[in-house]
Amino acid sequence: MASGEGRAGVEIQVARVSLAEKLTGQDKCVVVAELTGGPGFSFDPIEKFLTACREKADAIPAAFDFAAVALPQSPGGAANIEPAAVIHFLQAKGLLDGLDVLPHVTCKDMNADAIISSLMSYKRGGIKNVLALTGDKPAKAAGVFELESLGLLRLIKRINSESYLRAKPQALGEIHRFFPGAAVSPFKYTEASQMQQYYKMEKKIACGAEFLVTQVGWDWRKSLELFTYMKQAGVNVPVIGNVYLLSTLTPAPRLMHDIKLPGCFVSDELLAKVQSERIDDHIERAAQQVAMYRAMGAAGVDIGGVHDFDMFTRILQRAAEIGADWEPFKENLHWPAKEAFYLYDDAGVQGRLITPYPTFGKRFFDFSHRAFLDPDHTGFRAFRKMMALLGADAGRGAIYKLFNSGEKWFKYLLFECEECGDCFLPENFGLCTIGGCEKGMDNAPCGDATVDGMCGNNLDRVCIGERIYEAAASEGSRDDATAERPNRGLERLRTIINPPRNPALQHTSSIINYLFAKDHTMKSPIIAIGEAIHASIPKTGKIMKELHDLGADAYTKPSGPLQYIQALIESQADEGADYIAVNLDAFGEDNPQQAVDMMVEYVKLVRKWSHGVPVCIDSSSDDVLMTGLKEWYAATEAVKPPLINSVKVYTMEKMLPLKKDYDFSFVGLLVSEERPTGPGGSHSVDELVGMARQIFERAVGHYGFRPEQIFFDSTVFPLAIDMPMEPGVPGYTYRTFETIKRIKSDPQMKGVHCSLGISNSVRDLPARRIGVCRAYVAKAIEYGLDAGIVNTAHQYGSTEPAPELLKLVDAYAKLDGSVEKTGKAMELMADFCRANRKPS
Ligand code: SF4
Repeated sequence: MASGEGRAGVEIQVARVSLAEKLTGQDKCVVVAELTGGPGFSFDPIEKFLTACREKADAIPAAFDFAAVALPQSPGGAANIEPAAVIHFLQAKGLLDGLDVLPHVTCKDMNADAIISSLMSYKRGGIKNVLALTGDKPAKAAGVFELESLGLLRLIKRINSESYLRAKPQALGEIHRFFPGAAVSPFKYTEASQMQQYYKMEKKIACGAEFLVTQVGWDWRKSLELFTYMKQAGVNVPVIGNVYLLSTLTPAPRLMHDIKLPGCFVSDELLAKVQSERIDDHIERAAQQVAMYRAMGAAGVDIGGVHDFDMFTRILQRAAEIGADWEPFKENLHWPAKEAFYLYDDAGVQGRLITPYPTFGKRFFDFSHRAFLDPDHTGFRAFRKMMALLGADAGRGAIYKLFNSGEKWFKYLLFECEECGDCFLPENFGLCTIGGCEKGMDNAPCGDATVDGMCGNNLDRVCIGERIYEAAASEGSRDDATAERPNRGLERLRTIINPPRNPALQHTSSIINYLFAKDHTMKSPIIAIGEAIHASIPKTGKIMKELHDLGADAYTKPSGPLQYIQALIESQADEGADYIAVNLDAFGEDNPQQAVDMMVEYVKLVRKWSHGVPVCIDSSSDDVLMTGLKEWYAATEAVKPPLINSVKVYTMEKMLPLKKDYDFSFVGLLVSEERPTGPGGSHSVDELVGMARQIFERAVGHYGFRPEQIFFDSTVFPLAIDMPMEPGVPGYTYRTFETIKRIKSDPQMKGVHCSLGISNSVRDLPARRIGVCRAYVAKAIEYGLDAGIVNTAHQYGSTEPAPELLKLVDAYAKLDGSVEKTGKAMELMADFCRANRKPS
């Protein structure tokens, strides 16, 4: 029995075999009981159910494993007991023996910080399973929805990554890791609502969902459609089928029929049938549905609407009797809408998807966006220049206010804009998901649309998800589009995931924010090459060694060290890395072949977990570089060209011919085997620029590289020891920066990048290393730097550096060897060290 500390100091005990293990690794059908508190915030129904369970546990048939209790958070948008309080109560009463818990976490009444606090409480309590939901619109209170299901799943993924990244290497086997699930509804009856559900399901998996729970619904064709779609789309996570005891014992059938429980559908015919039946018939239908889900391949069922344990076991016993032979009951499990969209016909053949003509609104949006707000068009540049001349870029002043107020009424009129200031109209195909959606979600839709595509929370409006789907579909060609081969617009819709809006921008002008890159479109001023997977970093190197020592299946079998590497890859990708570097040279010092073999494995891992961010294969060994490059392209899926670090003047004739077979970019490292002839016995700026030209000419002139595929690295010297020993000799930083300036202003090498390994600059400094790196990047950008091997978590280039640190770096950038400049740099460094001395 694993244990942890509960929120109120109560020892939380969780099941011996977790829900995750049961869902992924056993033949028995997992059963989850969905339990809610009673009227007056009472624990009674839950307590009664679990007390009976303790007494009659052997009434569960052998084919089923009653594994967990699911705890909704204020279902139906009505305030109820918090799942955390229920867990606390059940533990205190000892009612969870052997059972796991699955609390629902929703975004309806908590902002992002409150959700983090809630998750951290679960983490402290040892709770691992969570069902991540957008949540129902609150019935009486204001909904929050700062995050929705995708934002919540990304947040959970980040918490999981941080747990590994912060752990000591010896503790990696005991890390708390959330096992997040998500909801999916196959019970939608318009093409738009249904395809949006399937697309969102795929996005939920991409954001970290590790299992799915279906919405309630009574249509076996739809249940089967879900499994068929998942197979076709390569979605391979366990599914828990939702089985709700639809019974006149509660008002639920009528409420679902009357659209009082958004997202749940009971047809006229089903309501009439249920009202004409006895409770035994209701139990029979639930049992048939359990058997159906089992036979279709669900890993488990989530049984809701039953707070009577005897009834619960009767459902399971009857389902066990039916076994796999559920098909005779198809008629009793088929209650579709009158106008019903099915993705596959009776023979399992997929139908065509719509390709409507763009609406007037869509055409108007596309035209005006292209004319004034597309950075590739002159209209954007002219508009931006004019707004800058008028001083509107400052975000204050009379002109800005005038523009902002005009923008507000105009966008309200056209798009129901609610002034979030961080506009996603282009991502949402010209539609606003704040003003246009009852929940104001970043990633619409939720699962509440009615069978005819109206919003389940406001029947007077079409669900924004429907409108977005149609706008997206209208972007594609009018060729046959199918689920397997969607048109261009639908393919974009299928994969686009909007990040959470920046709350600080609310009520500011979204157009000004966009024009001057203050919103989510803000790009890092440098191409970021994530440096974290480097065997010479002590902690990472130790974990890499442990992983390697696990043997033949080390890189495929789950383990603490492998989770750590996954966290390193995923966190860098999430932080906006443009490349993820892997350097294993420390392993090649004694055994060169080991570094070669390991690079094969790490390239595969980056390909698997980086969400499309290409690898940077970083090594001083050409064998490692070549092996990594070949492995990157050994994939069946399309991959972006990787970056090779590095190619030198004396290795280029070996490395550059590989371009014929493998497309790649490369770092041209400006070092030479020839004796330097510059001042102080090192290479002069002229020599370094000469090397760059040599590499450029061979790469572009002979081997067919494009200039933008070349990243010149003039090498970084630590500031702390960058002191010329003789007068008249410039500093290394000066040389590095001047080389960048010369390369970037050379018309013949137009288009190349300049990159540096930024962390080297702060080696041996006593403190404020991140701040100095920030200043170093800012100063180097002034000279033309546009790429860097960096710690992506620090987002260099997007935060202003401290002025005194910028001054310090500036002194080194100008250290040309004169007595005056040398004196100034030494003085500033002495001040810096004095101010940042560690107490002895
Ligand atoms: S408009 Fe659509 S996505 Fe928004 S709340 Fe209504 S049903 Fe949900």
